Amino acid sequence: MARYAIGVDFGGTKVLAAVVDVETGKVKGTGKKKTSAKDGPDQLVDRIFSTCDDALKDAGMKIGQIAGIGVGIAGQVDTAKGLLIGTANLSRSVVDLPIAKRITDRYNVPAALRNDVHIAAIGEDRFGAGKDVDDFVCVFVGTGIGGGIVSHGELVTGATGNAGELGHTTIAVDGRICGCGGRGHLEAYASRTAITNALMGELRRGQPSILRELLPDVDPAAYGGEAMRSGVISKAIKAGDEVTIRVVTSAAEYLGYGLASIVNFLNPQRIILGGGVIEAVDMLFDTAETVIRRESFPAAGEKVEIVRAALGDNSGVVGAAVIGADA
Ligand SMILES: [Zn+2]
Repeated sequence: MARYAIGVDFGGTKVLAAVVDVETGKVKGTGKKKTSAKDGPDQLVDRIFSTCDDALKDAGMKIGQIAGIGVGIAGQVDTAKGLLIGTANLSRSVVDLPIAKRITDRYNVPAALRNDVHIAAIGEDRFGAGKDVDDFVCVFVGTGIGGGIVSHGELVTGATGNAGELGHTTIAVDGRICGCGGRGHLEAYASRTAITNALMGELRRGQPSILRELLPDVDPAAYGGEAMRSGVISKAIKAGDEVTIRVVTSAAEYLGYGLASIVNFLNPQRIILGGGVIEAVDMLFDTAETVIRRESFPAAGEKVEIVRAALGDNSGVVGAAVIGADA
């Protein structure tokens, strides 16, 4: 018999909710809203509520048919308490926010909270590109870079829930400042935000680029830090734009070095790469794969399977629904 839960994936630029059949992973209805880095705690919770309401409406269902609600959010969470401790990509004013409790107070169903990449790894593990393997690493490239490790079929959470934070591993000592405040982290070199930063810098210094035509409303001199859409990057590459190809190649190489370290460290059977920019830009995936195989230990690097996430944009909401149903 079908059993339904709501999964919410709260990312750096959008929040997505879905009513999911947790026996099959099928999505019955969805809701979507933009997020803003300026949001305070109440606006953040309100966005979760309104996307959940939209998903229920879209599915033609009532809250009484829902077993639980799971939320994945881009930030540090205390999973036991259902608390968002803080977040690098959303508002800095959001600290120690009891998201699970606020959801249960409103909907009267159990609720659970996890890191957004952990839920994506759970989604891929249960219904996606990881369903047939027990040892894999999921890496999602978006406004940031997150990772989830599945070992012996179980998600590795670590002592404080932070395991898999590949985006915040140091790949350049004294390097670029990261969104988290640290230095030289992979995320500051290979995320969509990092790619955007580098491209805006090239435009500011007058490099010729088709990006000026693709983004007529964007003034590189007044650029506010928002990540460019994956589709724009993909279009520029397809048009043979030299600046974009150079910047994305560099980001892909950094990603490859970061992942080669993971291969040497964990020796996973499979690496699952996801995120809009991975889906839209083949060159990013292909270049990263070449570097991974070249830079890791021969046995581990030859054996590791490198694949794309199978659930696309839904891996997060599906995984969140799974933890919501188990809450
Ligand atoms: Zn960082």
